[in-house]
Amino acid sequence: MTLTVCHLYPDLLNLYGDRGNIIAFTQRCRWRGIPVRVMEVNLGDKVQCQDYDFLFIGGGSDREQDLMAQDLAARVDNLRAAVEEGLVVLAICGGYQLLGKYYRLPDGTKIRGLGLMDHHTEAGDARLIGNVVVEAELNGIKARLVGFENHGGRTRLNGVQPLGRVVRGGGNNGIDGTEGARYKNVFGTYLHGPLLPKNPALTDLLISLSLQRKGLDNRLEPLDDAFEKRANQAMAEKLLGNQP
Ligand code: GLN
Repeated sequence: MTLTVCHLYPDLLNLYGDRGNIIAFTQRCRWRGIPVRVMEVNLGDKVQCQDYDFLFIGGGSDREQDLMAQDLAARVDNLRAAVEEGLVVLAICGGYQLLGKYYRLPDGTKIRGLGLMDHHTEAGDARLIGNVVVEAELNGIKARLVGFENHGGRTRLNGVQPLGRVVRGGGNNGIDGTEGARYKNVFGTYLHGPLLPKNPALTDLLISLSLQRKGLDNRLEPLDDAFEKRANQAMAEKLLGNQP
């Protein structure tokens, strides 16, 4: 039993340490003796999404998103089928935007998204930049996520649930308090950081869902997360003061 991770477009989409998400996912598997291998998939490479256990798409600039959108469009049926049967996906920022219906650039050009989740994005006037604190419920368990955002796009959720609510930061659009989106086992978010090393509870949920989809025992051995918890706490305190 090996968990297979697909890192989509690692050469194009790797902003603000997004690759650290792959490192955190694989390392937390290895610490528990769960074998894991990472396949990098670049533009034009063949891909069978159903064969993967976890698929990761990072963030990128508008130019890279356009290139990626065309390549992804050719794979959309394959990806949709995998998502519908429970593929675990984490998509950050530009990758998250492209899972929705469309992303409208500042010059009005519309990049068509994959329509895997019911949201859309339009470029706003100013960029939303800075550290973010989000209250989320991860399969019924409350979690405080911290991360870093830097995006011009404003995302509106239509028929999809938010991943959480921003306590500090802009989130999806700087107005309605939502951050990210979740549909089945697909998690979209604006949080770079990288996200997973800063938020071990989310990493573990992704690992556990990947094991569950494979029909394996998904109870995870607890790890010593003292450093991770202190880092999360320090950032939350810096942004919120000493509120609990
Ligand atoms: N180009 C997108 C935006 O600015 C995504 C940027 C990113 O991935 N950080 O909204």
